[in-house]
Order: sequence, then C-alpha cells, then structure tokens
Amino acid sequence: MKLRKVIVIGGGIVGLSTALFLARRGAEVTVLERDRIGDGASAGNAGILAQAHPPLPRPGMLRSAVRMLMDPKSPVFIRLRLDPSLLPFLARFAMACSRNKFMASMDALCAIGREAGTCFRDLVAAEAIDCGYSGTGWLEVFRDRVHYEAALPLADLLRDRGYRVRERTGAGFRIAEPAFVHTLHGGLLFEDSAFAHPGRFLDGLAAAVRRHGGTIRESCEADRIVSRDHRFLHVITTAGETLEGDDLVLAAGAWSTPLARTCGLGIPLQGGKGYHLVLEGTAHRPTTTSVLAESLVAVTPLEGGLRLAGTVELAGLDLSMNPTRCRQLLRGAAEYIRGIDQARVTSTWCGLRPLTAGGLPAIGWAGGLDRVFVATGHAMMGFLLGPLTGRLASEAILDGNTSLALKPFLMDGRLSAESSLPPSR
Ligand SMILES: Cc1cc2nc3c(=O)[nH]c(=O)nc-3n(C[C@H](O)[C@H](O)[C@H](O)COP(=O)(O)OP(=O)(O)OC[C@H]3O[C@@H](n4cnc5c(N)ncnc54)[C@H](O)[C@@H]3O)c2cc1C
Repeated sequence: MKLRKVIVIGGGIVGLSTALFLARRGAEVTVLERDRIGDGASAGNAGILAQAHPPLPRPGMLRSAVRMLMDPKSPVFIRLRLDPSLLPFLARFAMACSRNKFMASMDALCAIGREAGTCFRDLVAAEAIDCGYSGTGWLEVFRDRVHYEAALPLADLLRDRGYRVRERTGAGFRIAEPAFVHTLHGGLLFEDSAFAHPGRFLDGLAAAVRRHGGTIRESCEADRIVSRDHRFLHVITTAGETLEGDDLVLAAGAWSTPLARTCGLGIPLQGGKGYHLVLEGTAHRPTTTSVLAESLVAVTPLEGGLRLAGTVELAGLDLSMNPTRCRQLLRGAAEYIRGIDQARVTSTWCGLRPLTAGGLPAIGWAGGLDRVFVATGHAMMGFLLGPLTGRLASEAILDGNTSLALKPFLMDGRLSAESSLPPSR
C-alpha cells in the first residue's frame, strides 16, 4: 500500500507532535522548520500543563482594556500600530469576552483538558522523554483576599466538570508552601495538572520523530503553499525547492497567517509576545509550578533554577526584546517569593504565542482547500494541547475522522464550515 506523504510546516510542539503520530503509523512525513528546533515558543514557555485553563478573552477583560492600551508596564499590552488586521481582531476578541462565549470556550477546554494531559504523559512514557515531568499540579497564588475570592467561581466551575481544585489559605498555605512570602493570602492548587521542561520535551519529541522514520529539515523555510483546483499541490521553500505531498499540515504558530494567505486562506491570528528569564541561586523554590495571580507571572522550578515567564504583548510578528518588560517579571515575582532579589538572572528570552481572537485554538481541515489541515492558535495552552492536537491531526489525515469533535476549534466557521470529516480525497 502506498504510504501517505505529509508535509508539516513548523517544528514547534504542534508540528512535531503531528509528525510523530503520523510517523508512528507509517506515514512518510517531513517537517519544515525555518529556524532550529527549540528556538520558538514551544521551548521557551513556562512548562505548565494546566488542564482546562481559561482562555485570554474572558468576562471582565474589557474593563481593563483602556489601562492595557495606555500602560506598557501592564502584563497584557497592546502596541498600537498600523495593521489593518488589528482592529477586526480586537473587535472579535471583545465579543469573545461575553459570558456566553466564555462558558462555551470553557466547555470545549474542559472536554479536552484531561485527554490532553493523558496524551502528554503517555507520550513522555512511551518515547522515554527525559523532561522532568512532574504531576504535582499547578498553583495559583494570591497576594490578597479580593482576588482569591474572585477566582473561586472558576474553581467551582472546574470542580463541576470533574477537575480537582484544593484551596489553601493562611497557616495551611504557609506550611505547605514555605517559599512564598508569609503575608500572602493563599492559593488554589489545580491537582490534575503537571509541569515539565519545555526545551527538553521538544528535543525528546524531535528525537522520537526521527526514530520513527520522520524527516526534520531545519533552516528550511516554507515560502508559499501552492494549490490547484482547490486542492493542495506543493510547498515552495525560500531556497526555491518544490516539495510535494498528499497532505499539508500548517503548524507554523503565529506565522501561520501570512503562510495561509499564500494559498488564499484567511486564518486571522496575532502574535502575543511573552518573555522568560531564568534565575539561579534562589534561596527558596516553590514546590510546584505556579502563577502569581495579581502580577500574572508564571514561576516554574526547572533544573535547579526558576523560570519566570509571562506578559502578553500584541505586537504583530515583532520578536525584538524589550529588556524593561522582561525585568518586569522579576519585579512581579519579588512580592511573592522570598529572597528572590538575591538570585542571578542567567538568561532571557522572548517568543510569540499564536493567538486567535476567540481564545480557542484553530484545529481542522481548511475550508475550500482540500488536503490542508490547520493546527495553530494555541495561545497560552499549546504546551498542554500540542500533543493532543498532533494526535487529532494524524487521525483526521489517516482515518478521515477524529476521536474528539473538532467543531469548537473551527474558529466559528472561519476555518471550515464542515464537521471534522475531511474534504474529498
Ligand atoms: C512566555 C510564554 C509562556 C507560555 N507558557 C505556557 C505554559 O506554561 N503552558 C502552555 O500550555 N503553553 C504556554 N505557552 C504557549 C505555548 O508555548 C504555545 O501555545 C505553543 O508553543 C505553540 O506551539 P506551536 O507549535 O503552535 O508554535 P511555535 O512553537 O511557535 O512553532 C511554530 C514553528 O513554526 C516555524 N515556522 C514559522 N514560519 C515558518 C515557515 N515559513 N517555514 C518553516 N517553519 C516556520 C517557527 O520557526 C516555529 O518554530 C507560553 C508561551 C509563551 C510565549
């Protein structure tokens, strides 16, 4: 039987996971990565595997919008620029902040959260990926009672859907989490979640793809996607090479929008720039990965140090480093973690999250263009959802159907008005 030949654009967690699931089932798969594996968001993120984490558009977000526009020190910041796609994106984002839309998004994310966690853990075990996987949950830490109490309804919503959330305040919190400043109000522990080292996971994933016979081509940039009669034909690289395949998977993160445009597809994304810095020599380390609720800084213990990650800056595809915003992470964490100001910053990094206006990832067959599968827009949850997305993409391509419904992830019909069934072969 002829092997299915699949080209995957993008060597982040989504592209590599797709390639791995395809290669395991005997497909002939080639991943095109413009840079080197491990340079992008998939290796630089906070490493939190937060099941059913709420999306960025949420009720109350609009109230903060004016402050965000004005204040470059805000954890979420919109850099105003001449980009015709920005205003429609913000308008759709505003609509997604309604209570109804938010609840629909939470239903979709709760429905896949547990499966995503299992898929990640199984992959680590099956491929023996040495990434410091730790199933200790993630902790949301609150400086004050007002923010803590405001978070309780969401904790209840998750409990109603079968997720475990433990409340810890006062002395109970101080005893369980001695690394935090003693005056903090407390925390919520999302017990089903986990964390891992993103860079080491990605390296292990790439090694597994190669072991199963997949090809990864680094420094190989897709320039355009060519179709004929509404069907994918081939990819042309910036070096002028033509690469043919039966199917194409578009998993180029925030850069999926310009690539999609080359074959007439509209996938409106914005890059959400985030930063991380690594601290060594910290006197106190939290027991698990945490997010500091008021400053929105994620803190993850990785390899003897602490990775502080956060900020979301809508700045197009601009990847320039703003040292002031990066150092804000340190200020944001200093009020929570004891003795953090004594530690050394050993590295800094920034990268782009692929954001959809609706807050859910875009996963499914492209509408009106046969044999192009879109897998992007994973925003702040791509480390958790990447492997599951890859599995679903492989099912869609090889089986013609998926084990979980893709309907919530079709960008309100912008991706495809169809169900999860593929277009004609
Ligand atoms: C600061 C920060 C913290 C985060 N923390 C978390 C977290 O704790 N938990 C979580 O679940 N998620 C987190 N995320 C989000 C997560 O990292 C992303 O959702 C995820 O990495 C997206 O994966 P991807 O494969 O879609 O994109 P990417 O990792 O961006 O990969 C896309 C790849 O495509 C390549 N590419 C682009 N254009 C081309 C082209 N033309 N040809 C060939 N290759 C191309 C790029 O070079 C890139 O390597 C965080 C993100 C950031 C920035």
